[in-house]
Amino acid sequence: MIPVNEPLLDGNEKKYLDECIDTGWISSEGPFVREFEARFAARVGRRHGIAVCNGTAALEAAVAALRIGPGDEVIMPAFTIISCAGAVVRAGAVPVLVDSDPATWNMDVCRIEERITPRTRAIMVVHIYGLPVDMDPVLKLAEKHGLKVIEDAAEAHGLTYHDRHCGSFGDLSTFSFYPNKHVTTGEGGMIVTDDDMLAERCRSLRNLCFQNKKRFVHEELGFNFRMTNLQAALGLAQLERLDQFVEVKRRMGQRYTELFAGTKGVQLPMQSTEYADNIYWVYGLVLGDDVAFDADEAMQRLGERKIGTRPFFWPMHEQPVFRRMGLFAGESYPVAERLARRGFYVPSGLALTDAQMDEVAAALVEILP
Ligand SMILES: *Cc1c(COP(=O)(O)O)cnc(C)c1O
Repeated sequence: MIPVNEPLLDGNEKKYLDECIDTGWISSEGPFVREFEARFAARVGRRHGIAVCNGTAALEAAVAALRIGPGDEVIMPAFTIISCAGAVVRAGAVPVLVDSDPATWNMDVCRIEERITPRTRAIMVVHIYGLPVDMDPVLKLAEKHGLKVIEDAAEAHGLTYHDRHCGSFGDLSTFSFYPNKHVTTGEGGMIVTDDDMLAERCRSLRNLCFQNKKRFVHEELGFNFRMTNLQAALGLAQLERLDQFVEVKRRMGQRYTELFAGTKGVQLPMQSTEYADNIYWVYGLVLGDDVAFDADEAMQRLGERKIGTRPFFWPMHEQPVFRRMGLFAGESYPVAERLARRGFYVPSGLALTDAQMDEVAAALVEILP
């Protein structure tokens, strides 16, 4: 079986982990955590980095730090991971959805303004699958309407928008370091920001809102979202190689695109837009309307040929858990719905070999009519 993802851990990962074990620094108090935060923030061009235990926690802390709660609305793409809407719903606020652009699979920024109401507090942008959201119009709208921007850059390590790093656009921007991301810590996440007060609030929320003087007296309810020194050791070693990883992924994306070029019936990821070059977080495919079966069937057929795949995201308005809460009743986002049913991604991990890509391409030709 060709796995859908396999990380590369052959840099300084082992050396730094050994250091944790030799020194006994394994908790969140260890020195790698601060170093990883500082280096990662600097890499993205931000003043502060707050490491947390995963990317979902980073979003929850970001929403809490902005004091988004009951009565508030947050505009976000329908086509994203549940972590985004989940963070807003858990805070007692309402996610307000926007459909996707059929070419980039990112939120269609032309549809944002029509969703703004007096209750809107923030726009949550999510860079999807290796291309960024078109940020300039989003930033203009946020400025015009006095809205905060939360930027989910979980899939965007090393990605730029007009030469500016993804992760530098939000009042608070978040990352994930899950093993299929360009930088992994096993499990892990980070919030980055330029705002001193928000950074302080995120640090406090991450650590149960302990207070300096009266440690066990709490003015506010926080979370234990701390990252361990072991995770940060991995992250530091991975970060050293981010440029190399992005290069590998781009080469992989280009190679897949060349291999699939003559294949009818699938839409390939855009190699570039006027504002960005794809970093191919994953290599997604969307079945054309002329193909009689859907992504489930395609993935099953590829599985029979020992090719690992994953489905695309399932849109937020079609999530049973949210529908049962009474959210999104009667709403429809046709592009997101189609992407969910027709889209899937093929093996795209950093350890993937050229020979494996050839096998994937051969199998794809076999399963398509
Ligand atoms: C992976 C991912 C997350 C969640 O990160 P975890 O570390 O798995 O919690 C959030 N948003 C997006 C867009 C992601 O791809």
